[in-house]
Amino acid sequence: MKIAVIGAGMAGVAAAQALASDGHEVTVVERRSSVAEETSFAPAGIAAAGLAAPWLPAPSRLQAMSGSVDEAGRLRGIGAAFAAPSLFGKGDGPEAARRAERALALHGLLALGVERIDELSRALGLDFERGDGLLLTLPDGACATQAEAAVAWLRERGEAAEWADAARQRQLEPGRAVADDAPRAVHLPNARIGNTREWTQLLRAHAQHLGVRFLFQHEVAAISAGPRPTVSFAAADEPARAETFDAVVVCAALESSRLLAPLGVKLPWKPIRGYSVTVAQHVREAAPDSGPRAALLDVRSGISISRLGARVRVAGGHESVPATAAAPAAPPTRKALQPLYDAVDNGFPGAVNWQQAQVWQAARAALADGLPAVGASGVPGVWLDVGHAHHGWALSQAAAGLLCAMIAGEPAPPEAAALAPQRLR
Ligand SMILES: Cc1cc2nc3c(=O)[nH]c(=O)nc-3n(C[C@H](O)[C@H](O)[C@H](O)COP(=O)(O)OP(=O)(O)OC[C@H]3O[C@@H](n4cnc5c(N)ncnc54)[C@H](O)[C@@H]3O)c2cc1C
Repeated sequence: MKIAVIGAGMAGVAAAQALASDGHEVTVVERRSSVAEETSFAPAGIAAAGLAAPWLPAPSRLQAMSGSVDEAGRLRGIGAAFAAPSLFGKGDGPEAARRAERALALHGLLALGVERIDELSRALGLDFERGDGLLLTLPDGACATQAEAAVAWLRERGEAAEWADAARQRQLEPGRAVADDAPRAVHLPNARIGNTREWTQLLRAHAQHLGVRFLFQHEVAAISAGPRPTVSFAAADEPARAETFDAVVVCAALESSRLLAPLGVKLPWKPIRGYSVTVAQHVREAAPDSGPRAALLDVRSGISISRLGARVRVAGGHESVPATAAAPAAPPTRKALQPLYDAVDNGFPGAVNWQQAQVWQAARAALADGLPAVGASGVPGVWLDVGHAHHGWALSQAAAGLLCAMIAGEPAPPEAAALAPQRLR
């Protein structure tokens, strides 16, 4: 089939590579000059099925802990940076059952995504900055109690989750300042840590090798419905041109709505802005382990610290923002970034050189129920692959596999049901 993919972030490149591997003739249209220039530029780079577990204490417990409703709401906001709040929100009865189903689906999809990351790395010999294992730090009693439930939930699903006392934490992350009486942490050994921009570039190179045509600096203006969809796009200073395809896969994150709304497809976005700071680690022969070895995530603050080659990336922040911003976001304030700087300075004192730190921000494209929309849009030939929120690395891989099966007309794999765009109507 002749297929257009709109957007060359993690999702678009994963879909293009997978579809081309299945023998399709694929064109990727991307408005930027390279892959992974927007939300996929500098995320923490964690892919872990274990993050589907309910790590975050219930709102009432957060409130008891912090003593104020506002503070509890804020903590819930930032702490949920890795688990969309609607997966583990309020409400009992049927709503609680639906949340449990979504958490199970997320776990299955993340596991599938991590499996594909491993398979592709092996099969294609992808050489990117990477590490294994995520240490979840639990700063207080409420988080530790909740973690008991999360570890039990994961073990029931056959997922490795190991308790780590202070000695084990030092063994896993020798550079980290850990007091002897530090609370236990949980180690997820099957988490993958990676430079996802580098990953996306390597996958793009493989896709090109398979014959995928990349049209960079080309912006899609519209998709027209018909027996076969038509895509209108243009490079700067060139007249728009239109091309008809057998299928169009929309991977344009929040921008997808602008293309889909005229076709009657509406997506209930709940975008969440976050930040990262990437900084060089000091090179000290006498203390080679002064920075992180893999990655850590503080369950309460939602701040992660990951090692990417010779650099350290700290990421966090969980602000609700409008789905369509009239103007580009202002640079993050020192106040917004200070918790990130503090996390590194307190956890790994003196490990990094803050000069020439690279600050980045983006809005995670999250949908109202916290899961992506992957599958047929309802408009003939138009497919969706959007809403990967906090887990774009693993979910874009899972989605690419599911899309290949669905576009080939194979019976939808069980994981696809939870992601069907129709559920959002
Ligand atoms: C602070 C932070 C930390 C994160 N940490 C992690 C993490 O640890 N692990 C993880 O898995 N995920 C993480 N994420 C989430 C992850 O970054 C996203 O899920 C992922 O990047 C989404 O990829 P995407 O391809 O859907 O979107 P994007 O990367 O935004 O790609 C969309 C592309 O579409 C293009 N486009 C849009 N409109 C058009 C148009 N009209 N014509 C042509 N092109 C168009 C854009 O230019 C863009 O390149 C984090 C995000 C943030 C903000």
